[in-house]
Parts: sequence; C-alpha cells; structure tokens
Amino acid sequence: MAHPVHITFLGGLGEIGRNCAALEVEGRIVMLDCGQLFPDDLPGVDAVLPDFTWLLERADRIEGCVVTHAHEDHIGGLPYLLKDLAAEGVSIPIYGAPFTLGMVRGKLKGEGVPIPELIELGDHAKLRIGPFDCEFLPVTHSTPSGLMTIFGTPQGRILHSSDFKLDPTPVDGRVTDLPRLRELAGSSGIRLLLADSTNAGIAGSSTSETTVGPVLRQVFEANEGRRIIVGAFSSHVHRIQQVVDAAAATGRTMVVMGPSMVRNVTLARELGLLRISDKMLAPDTELDDMDPARTCVVCTGSQGEPRAALKRMADGSHRFLKIGDRDTVVFSSHPIPGNEASISRLHNALARRGVHLVHSGQLGVHTTGHGKADELLELHNAADPELFIPVHGEYAHLVAHHDLALGRGMSPDRILRCTDGDSVSLTDDGLVPASRVSDEYVMVDESGRRVSEDLVEERRAMSGEGFVFIRVVVDGRKGRLIGEPVVESRGWVEPADRQDWHDQVASAVADSVRSAVDDGQRDPKELARMARRATGRLVSRRTGRRPALVPTVEVR
Ligand SMILES: [Zn+2]
Ligand SMILES: [Zn+2]
Repeated sequence: MAHPVHITFLGGLGEIGRNCAALEVEGRIVMLDCGQLFPDDLPGVDAVLPDFTWLLERADRIEGCVVTHAHEDHIGGLPYLLKDLAAEGVSIPIYGAPFTLGMVRGKLKGEGVPIPELIELGDHAKLRIGPFDCEFLPVTHSTPSGLMTIFGTPQGRILHSSDFKLDPTPVDGRVTDLPRLRELAGSSGIRLLLADSTNAGIAGSSTSETTVGPVLRQVFEANEGRRIIVGAFSSHVHRIQQVVDAAAATGRTMVVMGPSMVRNVTLARELGLLRISDKMLAPDTELDDMDPARTCVVCTGSQGEPRAALKRMADGSHRFLKIGDRDTVVFSSHPIPGNEASISRLHNALARRGVHLVHSGQLGVHTTGHGKADELLELHNAADPELFIPVHGEYAHLVAHHDLALGRGMSPDRILRCTDGDSVSLTDDGLVPASRVSDEYVMVDESGRRVSEDLVEERRAMSGEGFVFIRVVVDGRKGRLIGEPVVESRGWVEPADRQDWHDQVASAVADSVRSAVDDGQRDPKELARMARRATGRLVSRRTGRRPALVPTVEVR
C-alpha cells in the first residue's frame, strides 16, 4: 500500500474566486493557490477569503504554496494567510513564475506584509516541493506565465490544469503544453486530473487572443481624429500589448492610467513580457498638453469598479482627463457575472457625455482566457487521466465539466464531484471522500478587518428596510418607567409620517414594558425582548415591513 494523498479544497469549487487547495502526504502539506473572491452583494465587504483555520492548525506542516498565475482569485488571499501564519511564527516559501511572484511581491508590499522566500519557476521547471516531485508546464491564459502543475506523488501523478485555454496563436507564442501531457500519459500515466471548469458549459472553442489585435487596429483606424481610451484588466499583459501595437501603428502616444495598471505595466516591461518604448509613453499629468487625436489611454475600470479611472471619467471627477464627444471608449473585456448592472450604468454615464462606445457585444475586442468544452476535451484526451475532479467554477460549471468527462466515456465511478470544504483521499483504491472542513465565507473590509455574517445581515436589513431604535429607562426600585420611551428610525417610513409612527411605537412599547415591570420583571435583556416584540408587532402589522429593530432598556 502506497501512502495516500489527501486533497482538501478550501475554496474555488462552487464559485469563481478564492481558489485554494492543500495536498498532503504523511502530514506534509503543499498549498495550491490562495485566492480571494470579489463579493458583489455583501455590503461593506471588500474581499471574501477561504477559512484558513484548517491550515493555521497545521501551520508548521505547510512546506510551501504554489501559485499558478497572477489573478486575484489565485493570489488575493496570500496577504491575509501570510499575516495569520506570521502570527503563528511561520513563514512559508511561495513558488511561481517570475511575473506571478512580481505581482505577489507588489501586493504584499502594498499590504505591509513581510515578503517570504519567493522561488521562481520557469516553464518546464522540475523541482521537489515538500513531499512532491513537481513539474511545471506552460499554459495560455488571460495573464502571462500561467503554469499547470504535475505533482509526482506516492499515488501517481496529479495534474492541476490551472486556468487555461488552448490558444494556437497566443501573443507571446507560448502555447499550452499538451505534447508533454501526452508523453506523461504514455509513460506510467496521469492518475488524477483537477481541471478548470469555468467555460465547461459553453460549446466549441475560444478564439485566439491574437484575433483581438486586428479588431483593435480597425477600431483605431475608424476613430481617427478622436482620442481613444481603452479599458482592460491590468493583469492582461497581452491585451495591453495589442492596444500598444494598435496605438503605435496609428501614431498615438500611450498614457497608462490607474495604480494597478501602472504597476503591472512596469513589472511586465521589466520582465520583457511587454514591449513598449519609453518615447511612446507619457505620464497622465501631461494629458492636457497632448493632442487628443494622437493619444491612447489604457486604464482600469472596465468592470464598472467604483474607484477606477473609467468611473471617474464618467463622473467628470477625473483629475487629468475630461471626456466628451471627441472621445472613443473601448471596453476590451467581458462583464464578469455580477458586474453587468454597474457596467451598464457606466456605459450610460459615458454615453451621456457624448462618448462613442465600443464594447465586446459589438466587435471582437475581447476573448476569454478559459477554454470551452472542446478545449477541455482536448486536455482530457491528452492527459487521459484515470480519475477526475472538476475544479475552478460555480457549481453549474463543475456539473457541466463532470458531464463532459462522462460524455468522453469516463466511467462515473472515476469522477468525484467535490465542493468547497471537501477533503478527499487518493488511495490504491481510487478517490475516497474523507472528511469536511469549514467552507465558511471569511469576509473582510477594506482595512482587512473581519466582517461577521451578523454585521452583513444587519447592513442588509438596514439598507433594505431601515431601522427602528427604541430606548426605555426603568426605575427598578420604584417599578416604573422614567419618562416615555425614545423612538428613532431611518429608512422605515416616509420622513413626513415618521413622528406619528414613532409615537405609536413609543406607546406600544411603554404598555408592554410597564406591564412586565408591574409583574416584577427587572432584567434589562428580558425587558428589551418585550420592547422588541411590541415594536415588531406594530411594525409588521401596520407597515408590512421588516426594519432592523434596536431596542435598549436600562434599569436604574
Ligand atoms: Zn485566471
Ligand atoms: Zn481563476
């Protein structure tokens, strides 16, 4: 019997975001990615993280963390995890491609987290990490230097695809290395495949990133005489390259805008991943003096992010750039699910300013970074795994990927569908569900502080239905109320009607608390419950609403 490999999924299986898994042999753990999730409907929550409790309990047994690529859903949790580990006196090495590690370094610096040992991985690198003989292969994705990982384990090879597509003509010529997978499949095989499910439910194949370049070029030519502003993801270096190429071909100077865009462009240039000459670049402070017809701005905010450059331009609050009917704004990205409404508001705000809009709904100014069904099947065919777990996706994506594998002829008992918090064991007998760990959403605000479920619930209730505050003071010795209850509310009833409602609540609460006090009740908590009940009855019966109720009772 070979030692089993335990795989624990802390996030990313059931949502796009917070990808994080741990592989373990004989108690030695190697982590795979540590991402965050951007919440779209949690008020006052900036990031959602995996619950690191399970890892922190085993902190001294973590031998490192492999980060597959530079997207936030893979590296965004690192500052929080490393801080928590440092509190336990533990620092772990991070393994990744130079670009990915550059992004990690920038992120940790920005958060004031001490930089751990960063170990660079080249394409085709082979090295031992903890109990595993690892090999790293290039994959094409919407950020450079993505790596899939082959973990050599006592139970055979485990292949993790990373986020990938099969682009035959990527901008940097660096294609996903399926030939090496076929080679490995032919020599002692791949035991278990963990693969990206994001686009499993979409038929066909994605289009190549290099198809975007000519479309951008056409847009630039068609908008001669106008200033062009392109919104794109700051980590999408190859897209930025194609914007730069279109600008160069049409004689425009580039202005790179937004802190993350500036940071990533600088990093990518340093690493030779982005070709742009110094003389083609101008700082945003010079925009006023530049000929708009010979200017191209590349910036963040194409997802409608509230603080990003595009939003400020649309508001008219951008420091250096006032836009109007001589500007063309190109959205070189697709809406991420959940962002549609804010993007549509942004489109409208820009259109009101007379801006000419170009987006992926009209022209091929964007293509996905995740392989569709045919590409996933090609990966399955190349790796020909004995066992399969779909990863990286919302639940429906995981199911679609499961179905794809079945359709390819994989027998159902060789596929295990897992979700956040599942721990499985790979043994001589195959995949065995082992246990469950916490899959709780760990929510943090902008400053990195934890936000509880209760707090989010309160904010939701307040933002939806308002709140009612009730304060009662009781003279415990004499057994009577001191003054009348004080009632305040916001967001519950029309301001003009407020006083009348407050009086009614005050009188209902006074009756209820008074009769309890007459019966000898002196416990402030118990009396507050009565006040809440009396308020709740009146509120729901008369107004049919459910505002947050905040009763306080003081017994003197
Ligand atoms: Zn990605
Ligand atoms: Zn991802």
